[in-house]
Amino acid sequence: MSQMNGKRILAIAILLSLNSPAIAQMIDIYSRPFQTERTRTYDVLHYRVHLIFDEDTRSFSGSNAITMTPLSDNFKELSLDAETFVVDSVHNAAGEMLSFIQRPHSLQVRLSRTYAYTDTLRFTVFYHASNVDIDSEAYGMSASYDLGIDFKDETDENPQLINTLSFPEGARHWMPSYDHPNDRASHETLLTVRPEYRALSNGRLVFVKEEENGLMTWHWHQELPHPTYLYVAVAGPYVILEDSLRQIPVNYWVYPKDVDDAMRSFELTPEILEFMEELYGVPYPWTKFDQITIPGIGGGAESTTATVLGHVTIHDEHAEQDYPSDWLVAHEAAHHWFGNLVSYRDWSQTWISESFATWSEYAWACHAHGSDECSVNLQSKKDAYFREANDRYRRPVVFEHWQYPNQNFDRHTYQKGAVILEMLRGILGPANFKRSIQRFLNDHAFQPVHTYDLITAIKDATGQNMEWFFDQWIYSAGHPEITVTQNWDTSGKLTLTVEQSQDMVSPYVYRIPVNIRIHTDSGVQEEQIWLSERTNTFEFQIDSRPRFVRFDADGTLLADWSFEKDVADLQYQLVQDNVAGRRRAALDLEAQAAQTGVRRGLSDCAASDPFWDVRMTCLNVLSRSIAENDAGLFTASIRDPHSRVRAAAVRGLGELGSEEYIELLIEFYRNDTSYFARAEALRSLGKIGDPTIVQFLEEAAQDSSPRNVTRLAAEWALERFD
Ligand SMILES: [Zn+2]
Repeated sequence: MSQMNGKRILAIAILLSLNSPAIAQMIDIYSRPFQTERTRTYDVLHYRVHLIFDEDTRSFSGSNAITMTPLSDNFKELSLDAETFVVDSVHNAAGEMLSFIQRPHSLQVRLSRTYAYTDTLRFTVFYHASNVDIDSEAYGMSASYDLGIDFKDETDENPQLINTLSFPEGARHWMPSYDHPNDRASHETLLTVRPEYRALSNGRLVFVKEEENGLMTWHWHQELPHPTYLYVAVAGPYVILEDSLRQIPVNYWVYPKDVDDAMRSFELTPEILEFMEELYGVPYPWTKFDQITIPGIGGGAESTTATVLGHVTIHDEHAEQDYPSDWLVAHEAAHHWFGNLVSYRDWSQTWISESFATWSEYAWACHAHGSDECSVNLQSKKDAYFREANDRYRRPVVFEHWQYPNQNFDRHTYQKGAVILEMLRGILGPANFKRSIQRFLNDHAFQPVHTYDLITAIKDATGQNMEWFFDQWIYSAGHPEITVTQNWDTSGKLTLTVEQSQDMVSPYVYRIPVNIRIHTDSGVQEEQIWLSERTNTFEFQIDSRPRFVRFDADGTLLADWSFEKDVADLQYQLVQDNVAGRRRAALDLEAQAAQTGVRRGLSDCAASDPFWDVRMTCLNVLSRSIAENDAGLFTASIRDPHSRVRAAAVRGLGELGSEEYIELLIEFYRNDTSYFARAEALRSLGKIGDPTIVQFLEEAAQDSSPRNVTRLAAEWALERFD
């Protein structure tokens, strides 16, 4: 790499993005402003925040006692991030009033004297806010995201409650603070709330005290420093379900109505934390692990020791098959090492947190659900990245052009980064990969880091200089585009020609290892090749004509590759390969799906492949050219044991568009256990479009379901009658 090389490639990419018509149709993210780590003039050591809430007026009054040290001599003024609230006064440690100016986004404080580099100073800001209603869109977040602080009214889904969302720059809406990731501080959070409420923040509970007016104050202390975007305060009529990992309290804060369903989502939490400890070789570094549900978000936020999760994560027994929570628990738990123990200096470095958390989800899936689910998990991450890369933009994973911090939190940061980490693990080997991340976490515990700190940790732990790897995958945009051709001659020589054809936005040549598997009548031959030129040719001696050759045998390569094969080879692969290979064969056979033999093979696959994802893929391939002859297969597959396969089957029946299937689809909607598949049946009814089903769809639109999947599907179907 070297940082400088990364910059050079970035500059080339900018020029090309202006000239290339293919990129110009996509979102021009290179014109966004260049932003790097913020310069600061002080180091905050500790915040002591006290908030007193009045929900009737959506108001709070607060105080924040801030302890800091200057980062230069002659320190007499400072600026804090401050939004939403009005500052009433600022006092120094002796109680004297300090002069201040509150500007639209900041608070300037003038100190009573000059402080030196070695001094520590403390002052307290008193403030209040009323009729709080933050316009999240003005800060680059979606309108439904409760940035900062919000007062939630009671609904069918949630009780009345108060919640904060400090990610990415939300803390400044409820506490004056240095609100950028490159500073870490400890903090106490005191929350004065109604007596029937329970209030949660980071760290350990110091006390709960009754005030003279009957309100209760919950005092939390986060003793180990972390950045402000991880600070949290939530209060409401929660029920606390207690669990533990060894001596570490692990608690689940849920609404009273969710108590019976909560453990379905949370019961694996201690096991997941233990798995992460083993995965990274570093014990859980914090005093406790709470998870709390709130409205308004679909996923979660990794606020240290008090992770918030969207309340939709709690679901009934039928929803478990389609909307399990363990991946989300794993993702937010992983952040307690990547993101919280070691945090990023700047928003452009966020992959250090999100890629690792997303890769850890995958690692958990492999551990908990086996190699086939593991393969599906990685493929879904690749697919998510490719959708963004092909439809929206391509950027380096570390990319310093953004207007709002949230623009760094995309498919490149999450999914592409996760696949890159798995490729890195493949090159270093599992043991040295673990030693590298263990070294990285231990060397930088409780510190903000930059990508080069990870590169250095790998060097220190394993001796491997991986700068070239980071240069092509992290500091460059795009991905390899590869064409593979094979030739076998009767002397027993198999020749593979691998051509890289990615455009100039991407590295001209990727240097990558690729695993190859050659299947012959006498067995399987495993090989590894290294691509290092625009065109590489590899020769292998084998004993008979290959039945099929598998490129990227373990499915970890992030590349858009094609490999032209005989239909017979693909049909053999469709039956004989592993999950990733069978899935790929089904997709590669789509162009020949009209041929009788191919269609029969795909139908057999849809009916009887041992793994659901392959059956679903075969159904999806067939449904894109579905004909009446296929109806028997699709009507049989609506009884498949896996909900995703059933959903693919009812989707296919919708493509047939015949009124003949209306009754079957209505029956399916009424009786199937999967909300996801039932929603698909409603969409298929909409596609068939017979007016006699309007009333049925209107009734279905009233049914409740997790994430409103059936209601949304019914509304989509009804729109087709407009
Ligand atoms: Zn995350």
